[in-house]
Amino acid sequence: MSPAEEIKAKLDIVEVIREYLQVKAVGVNFQALCPFHREKSPSFVISPDKQIWHCFGCGKGGDVLSFVQEMEGLSFPDTLRLLAPKAGVVLRQAAAGEYSKRGRLLDCLESAARQYVNYLENDATGRRMKAYLLKRGLSENTIKDWQIGYGSEQWTAMFDYLRSQKFTEQEIFAAGLAGRSERGSVYDRFRDRIIFPIREASGTLIAFTARVNPEKADTVTGGKYINSPQTEVYDKSRVLFALDKAKKAIKERGFAIVVEGQMDAIACHQHGFTNTVASSGTALTREQLKLLKRFSNNLILSFDMDSAGQLAADRGIKEALALDMNIKIIVLPSQYKDPDECLRANPDDFKQAVINSRPMMEYYFEKVKSGKDLRKLSDKKEVARLMLAMIAKFSNKIDRDYWLQRLAENLGISEQALRESLPVVQVNRPELTATKATLTPTAPVLGLTREERLSEILLALLLKAPDFITYSVSHLEPDDLSGESLIAFYKNLIIYYNKFAVLDYDSFRLYLQEQADGSAEIIDRLALLGEKDYYQHDANQLKAEITKVLLELKRFSLKRQIKSFQDRISAAEAAGESEGMTMLMEEIKNLTEQLNSLHSL
Ligand SMILES: [Zn+2]
Repeated sequence: MSPAEEIKAKLDIVEVIREYLQVKAVGVNFQALCPFHREKSPSFVISPDKQIWHCFGCGKGGDVLSFVQEMEGLSFPDTLRLLAPKAGVVLRQAAAGEYSKRGRLLDCLESAARQYVNYLENDATGRRMKAYLLKRGLSENTIKDWQIGYGSEQWTAMFDYLRSQKFTEQEIFAAGLAGRSERGSVYDRFRDRIIFPIREASGTLIAFTARVNPEKADTVTGGKYINSPQTEVYDKSRVLFALDKAKKAIKERGFAIVVEGQMDAIACHQHGFTNTVASSGTALTREQLKLLKRFSNNLILSFDMDSAGQLAADRGIKEALALDMNIKIIVLPSQYKDPDECLRANPDDFKQAVINSRPMMEYYFEKVKSGKDLRKLSDKKEVARLMLAMIAKFSNKIDRDYWLQRLAENLGISEQALRESLPVVQVNRPELTATKATLTPTAPVLGLTREERLSEILLALLLKAPDFITYSVSHLEPDDLSGESLIAFYKNLIIYYNKFAVLDYDSFRLYLQEQADGSAEIIDRLALLGEKDYYQHDANQLKAEITKVLLELKRFSLKRQIKSFQDRISAAEAAGESEGMTMLMEEIKNLTEQLNSLHSL
């Protein structure tokens, strides 16, 4: 067994997908909202029996490996690397040469993280930094859990260490851990700073953020926090600090708390708000919000945004509204400057603030109105302008209409006038992820003709109820179907069933692969289509459905044949030939009679 097969065999596809999506049992299968395209009702189906998934909206599908690969945006080897520990499979340690470059960078970062922890525990300054963290209220456990470390003051301590661990200079630079000055000397990026690892949602360490040594906060050049640069493994706009630790709780509790600073996030987790992530001080990007949306559609923001202007200008809020996410705002008691401070002083205050968090629009409306006199025209105009600027950002029409109405009532201005004044907001509406190639060559079902669609349904039904294959064959020939691969599939199904008299899914799949005529590529989709739409049908209902589809396909087929004879007659007439005309007319007459008498099977 190859490592990939072994990993697949040991993982349950439903459990793995459950870590990314809200999965709901439907019959013997599971459904979810597809993460690869935007949809409101689930067309993403998972079959635990067959250990496959397929989306009927965008046409993507595959096995557990392809799902994780697509979801995490990884190469195949890196997907195995990620899943191996979960499956309890030990991957053969490949020679450095054949190991993926990404793998080397990740190893380099892990190695650095362990050494940073070592400095925090054993370096003289490091130990003072640890004392500082403890004094700030972090527990020993938290420091260990988050793998918080310290970067030595020396210029090349980390570089030298990593070289001693057989990482090349190139790899260390590429991992963003060291650089070269203009004068050509090497230097560590994170010197004399407290180091926090940044991990992907999957838990893979991909970068660091480093806080200045608090003893030198006033004298040091560079920011209070500095981050790893953009590297091959780290794209700042696509990572949310603490999401790896928070994702489970976000899904369970149904909302995510978003704070600004890493220290805020860590403090939140330590106090049991384990559904907290940090935006790391910048506006939330669309990519970050999409990450969150996998786990919940509800955000509670604890940002320092007291003024309406700040809210209106916030790009993260704009993007979240465009993604139709629900946003609430945490208002901390005014004596605290951030969640960290609040939690240290009185965790209950924070808890209350979360419970009392306000829907963003309500909060915004209040801010906009405060200090305004709504009887004065100039104030009305100002309030309308600010409100419309926000309302325009909603992608959801219902929200839009609701707020236009409310604003109209409050201002005593007609809704129509307000609607006409809505600014046009440049919103990149969520698009299908069309840029990435689909993993399976299955075409989306969107562009199918009615006949192809029916052919698909027939095959799906027959896969679900193989007992009716003989029944189907007695009424419908392969050529009565439409669509090349569907016809090939039907032929194979008939041959296979005649030979074995049973339909074992896995061996039929292998059989199709041997035929190499493209029909193996659609079996998963067809099987899941049957499971999705007909899971509750008993044998009688299935037979009724099959009969209905057979009849309609037969009609299509007869019409197609009639049309082709008519074409031949026209061609013959145009060429001035009369030979065989009677026979063609006879055929048409026959077919038409068949068509007219086709009411039941
Ligand atoms: Zn989809």
